[in-house]
Amino acid sequence: MKQIQGNSFNIDEDVIGRITFGKNIFCRSNEILVSKNASNPVFGYVATITIKNNITDNGKPYCVVNDIDVFNEGDVVVINRSGEIIFLYEVKSKHNVIMATERCNHRCIMCPQPPILQEKDKTPFNLKLISLFDKHTQEIGITGGEPTLIDNNLFILITHIKKKIPKAAINILSNGIKFADKEYAMKLAKCRHHDLQIDIPLFSDIAEEHNRIVGAKTFYKTVQGLYNLALFRQRIGLRIVVHKQTYKRLPQFADFIYHNFPFVAQVAFMQMETTGLAKDNFEELWIDPYDYNNELREAVLLLADRGMKPYIYNAQLCILPEDIRCYAQQSISDWKDIYIEECDGCVLKGQCAGFFESNRQAHSSHIKKVEHISSDISC
Ligand code: SF4
Repeated sequence: MKQIQGNSFNIDEDVIGRITFGKNIFCRSNEILVSKNASNPVFGYVATITIKNNITDNGKPYCVVNDIDVFNEGDVVVINRSGEIIFLYEVKSKHNVIMATERCNHRCIMCPQPPILQEKDKTPFNLKLISLFDKHTQEIGITGGEPTLIDNNLFILITHIKKKIPKAAINILSNGIKFADKEYAMKLAKCRHHDLQIDIPLFSDIAEEHNRIVGAKTFYKTVQGLYNLALFRQRIGLRIVVHKQTYKRLPQFADFIYHNFPFVAQVAFMQMETTGLAKDNFEELWIDPYDYNNELREAVLLLADRGMKPYIYNAQLCILPEDIRCYAQQSISDWKDIYIEECDGCVLKGQCAGFFESNRQAHSSHIKKVEHISSDISC
């Protein structure tokens, strides 16, 4: 999440609120006022953010920052006692997510966000957070950790989104194990959300390989979860993170998916984000993405030729074979998306996913600006 550092005053507990520049003079109780010229924290707001250092505070919470241009009317932030301002929701972003829990029942070797063992129930906080989102938000992700570990609270979150932000599509990222329980899968269906997709990672067509990568013997539970979700006509996406331990069997895996899960709405092949455990296990996982192009191409075209919907996430267009570039998506969240020096002057910059901030050092050695578009990159 985007984060900036300021200096907070009179803030002992985290303050959460929706950013306003003073547009709305009513209902200030959930809003944080951002004002260049505030000479004292303004009455009614949960806090004030300013660039002025010498303000008369009357014991009210405020935070001094260097720059207020980073804020937009409608963003939702939390300010903590150390002066960190964390953006929980960005009104201009398409990648806003709710973190249902930081706990997980998998220990994936390339997990970018290693799970924690215990935590306070985040649901009350998340319900408040959802209430602060702009009601015209187009899409909300529910992620973790493993979101189904909050059990039925997952359905409370979905129902709350449906009520507060009726048009928003919901995307849930889950390992699918919990949906091996048919009742639980049915409860998701009973939410009757008009536009919900559940994305489930699967890493191999061989159970032992998948289990080794996720650190648990759960391959068949995930498979059962997929079938149960399909039974209740839920829209499913499959996610495959490509690294040294998964790339070799991509064509066989794609064939397995075609034969066993023809009902999935999409299959995303994802370049790895080298942070968290992926960074710790770098030597065992890293392969230059250019070096798995043959396997990736074969897998993508195998699915596409058979009428399925393959996508390539987090990849750089210049290293992909031209005939599969059209499957690449701009999938990296805005706040961690970068381009590197080699991209200067590249004609594909607007269409290319770029890089994860954390991959600034760990990226393909074949990145090279594209000077002319030689072919149409639409499919
Ligand atoms: S040079 Fe950079 S912007 Fe251009 S295709 Fe490669 S990674 Fe993308």
